[in-house]
Amino acid sequence: MQNCARIVLNNKATRIAVVSASAGVTNHLVTLAHTAMTQEQIKDICSAIKAIEMAIVNQLNEPELVQDKLDDLLDEMAGLAHHEEILHRDDLKDQLLSMGERISSLLFSAVINEMGNQAINFDVRKVLRTDSEFGAASPEPETIAALSTALLMPEANNAIVVTQGFVGADEHGKTTTLGRGGSDFTAALLAEALHAQVCEIWTDVAGVYTTDPRIAPNAHPLPELSFEEAAEMATFGAKVLHPATMEPALRGNVKVFVGSSKAPGQGGTWIMRDCEDEPPYRAITRRKEQVMVTVKTPKMMYAQGFLQQVFAIIAKHRLSVDLVTTSEISVSFTLDNPANSVAQRLNKETIAELETLCDVKVEHGFDLVTVVGNHMQSAKGVSSKIFAAVADYNLRMICFGANPHNMSFLVNEKNSTPIVQHLHKALFE
Ligand code: ASP
Ligand code: MG
Repeated sequence: MQNCARIVLNNKATRIAVVSASAGVTNHLVTLAHTAMTQEQIKDICSAIKAIEMAIVNQLNEPELVQDKLDDLLDEMAGLAHHEEILHRDDLKDQLLSMGERISSLLFSAVINEMGNQAINFDVRKVLRTDSEFGAASPEPETIAALSTALLMPEANNAIVVTQGFVGADEHGKTTTLGRGGSDFTAALLAEALHAQVCEIWTDVAGVYTTDPRIAPNAHPLPELSFEEAAEMATFGAKVLHPATMEPALRGNVKVFVGSSKAPGQGGTWIMRDCEDEPPYRAITRRKEQVMVTVKTPKMMYAQGFLQQVFAIIAKHRLSVDLVTTSEISVSFTLDNPANSVAQRLNKETIAELETLCDVKVEHGFDLVTVVGNHMQSAKGVSSKIFAAVADYNLRMICFGANPHNMSFLVNEKNSTPIVQHLHKALFE
């Protein structure tokens, strides 16, 4: 927290700091919100969270200044965790999930204050309006802009505003959350709302890499990326960015910086509208646990409207289709799998409904590997170089051409690590 406070204070232009929860806290809260447990087990997890926060509080010079507020928040948390309806009410779950950020923002503003600067802890629910889709709420940018201009801007003129990522509120004032990892998204939304020039994301890696260095040790950080490339990378598995973060940045033309709070001197990646160069290959991403669905029926021959019926069922069950390939009597598609929710949502009901139309086959055990770049569909030789690198592997499905920034393969999960390694070697080493 002190590192982060220094980063904030080192740049006088930084007026708003959006914080995530302390490490480990949101995972604990998710367990409390989703698992049936005994009173004892609930108490144990609440104590574990308290211990994480107290380790920070105990480092403050004047812990007594935050203690009352912290106790209130911990009481609210315990009350929600023990609430008899917690497992069944999504609004209560979100209120519980919000506690991590509400506590960390209290502590972070105290850290900045102790370093001799005035900081206030601002309740983001006053401005971050969302719909009422608890757990994955969609923000309403126009309302956010109006409320932020009226309520947040004046505060930012007087003090450094510390506020909560990930958390919002619907029109009735009920607490919502934006989905796991949503703090980046909040920062970008507030940057857009207040016409900020820059949104800096300080995380645990020094920027966005050519691929995950845990897969390919020669992966290196990228000095720059375009919004489009970054959005593709986030959607197709790069963990450092939340997929939705680029939308507000793009709309507001806010430059985004990604760097490491542990090593701020190392620099990082700038994400912006126009990059100096637009290489055909920029990065490789992987998304795990992909599900492929194949629907087949002879009725599809020369038929019209069949796909529409299939996708209407998928949409009704709130699944989002990712890759699609078609042949005369069958269609295969993969389902986007945010937070591993497909397994739950692609349930018997969805399949039964599809089966009223056609034969349905569901296959698991795939990973999706994506090469992100520029002008990929129009430049010569781009795909042949990629195919040459993966020639030894079976590609279950290929998607190319819908977008100049992406070529994706569905592969057996056992092969995805060597495939990424081979591609990285061929394209970046
Ligand atoms: N604390 C939230 C989470 O763990 C949001 C975030 O980290 O960005 O998902
Ligand atoms: Mg996080």
